[in-house]
Amino acid sequence: MAHQFECTQQDCDFMVRANDENEVVDMVQEHAREKHGMAMDRSDVENAIQRT
Ligand SMILES: [Zn+2]
Repeated sequence: MAHQFECTQQDCDFMVRANDENEVVDMVQEHAREKHGMAMDRSDVENAIQRT
């Protein structure tokens, strides 16, 4: 199963897709912090991940 996350912030086209959910969560948390100055909880990221 693939895990995908698309950033929904305005003017941001960040997207990450991987088979490993932990990898996606880590990359999204890092992206949110570095690009948007946002701290995302793991559960927030997990809720936003699309599983395909
Ligand atoms: Zn973003």
